[in-house]
Amino acid sequence: MNPQQLFEKSKKYMWLPFTQMTDYERDPLIIESGDGVRLKDIYGNEYLDGNSSLWLNVHGHRKKEINDAIIKQLDTIAHSTLLGAANVPSILLAEKLIEIAPEPLSRVFYSDSGAESVEIAVKMAYQYWQNKGIKGKTKFVTLSNGYHGDTVGTMSIGSIEIYHKVYTSLLFDALVVPFPSVYHHESSDEQVVCQEGLQLLRDLFEEHHEEIAGMSVESMMQGAGGMNIMPKGYLKGVEALCREFDILLIVDEVATGFGRTGKMFAVEHEDVHPDIMTMAKGITGGYLPVAATLTTEKVYEAFYGEYEEMKTFFHGHSYTGNQLGCAAALANLEIFKNEKLVEQASQKAEYVKELLQEVKDLEHVGDIRQLGLMCGIELVKDCQTKEPFPWELRVGYQSTLKMRELGMITRPLGDVVVFMPPLAATFEELKDMVEILKQGIIWATTEYTKERV
Ligand SMILES: *Cc1c(COP(=O)(O)O)cnc(C)c1O
Repeated sequence: MNPQQLFEKSKKYMWLPFTQMTDYERDPLIIESGDGVRLKDIYGNEYLDGNSSLWLNVHGHRKKEINDAIIKQLDTIAHSTLLGAANVPSILLAEKLIEIAPEPLSRVFYSDSGAESVEIAVKMAYQYWQNKGIKGKTKFVTLSNGYHGDTVGTMSIGSIEIYHKVYTSLLFDALVVPFPSVYHHESSDEQVVCQEGLQLLRDLFEEHHEEIAGMSVESMMQGAGGMNIMPKGYLKGVEALCREFDILLIVDEVATGFGRTGKMFAVEHEDVHPDIMTMAKGITGGYLPVAATLTTEKVYEAFYGEYEEMKTFFHGHSYTGNQLGCAAALANLEIFKNEKLVEQASQKAEYVKELLQEVKDLEHVGDIRQLGLMCGIELVKDCQTKEPFPWELRVGYQSTLKMRELGMITRPLGDVVVFMPPLAATFEELKDMVEILKQGIIWATTEYTKERV
């Protein structure tokens, strides 16, 4: 089928996620194939995958070992249900996940997406207290600008106005504390921001702890909320407060897990031990939809007993524990080990940090936030006052359209440009990517805005 026909059909039949379709119609992109860190569209144009196909891809596209693992599994079985029955790759993967996860996580509950893994965490934490007969602990605490997914439950513990506001009356109430963002705080002292943030949380816990089931946080760095990094010591402080007030700590590693931040899981940066931890995106190397919610024996045991005791956890979807996905995830973890990928990622992150120095010096770059290979570049009208560009200009979005033209794909979060290359990107590829990033930003913040601001 010729490209024009495909585009017409896409306009006629499709509705894309998190997309205003007029944007798509104006600047369509239809991917046909991928190889390594490159994507190719139906017109034959090539692009570097600057956001790992939305933060998923680890080893590049068409990684042989993962392809082979899926094909091998396909010759055995594609899918059978996990409801009341296990399957071979899901068992083997559960063991491996527990091996690499922080203690005392010891149980794996599978699902199909990051949002569902957090939805499960919420239901699990809620029912944990119900099963223990502590009926009053029903609420959740979350951080401002938090993102845990787009389902009704995960939006309830999320706090991003642009995504969530319209649904307000549909969502359950969560207690929101401000995210300790150093750049957006009047004090630029990390420790001041950290201590203030923890004090606000302590005040909230002191007043409400008897009603609080759990607290959810993205691990070390918020993703969709604008790539915000926690000040040093904050997550460790949150953990200590959760312990002190008997509140379950739910850590969302959906974006940060699997080497993304230079550690296998971002909690390792501060030696944090969650009660519940969620993972998805990188778990299959970006191949197939698998997610997991890990928890401790303490939580598991609150659900364990005879059926008549009515403690069963009633959750699970048709494709939970899919064999093809689990086989891909097993192959993914094997490559992590064989290629020492976490170490590599942390070396590449150092290199990217150097490369980004030049971007940092640009006139309209207010802040660069980077943890490992997870980077956000905040564009502002005025670096001194931190005044943003008028939001309707969509300077971030415009910069990424320019990057696409120059041969790299990424998606912005408002005026924060996201740079999250696959961990397998070579030093040379990283250099090419940052060069395009820089050119896109320069164009959008000068030429494009010139007549418009
Ligand atoms: C992407 C993301 C999710 C949602 O994952 P999906 O697979 O898109 O449902 C949840 N939490 C965080 C931190 C994420 O970045």
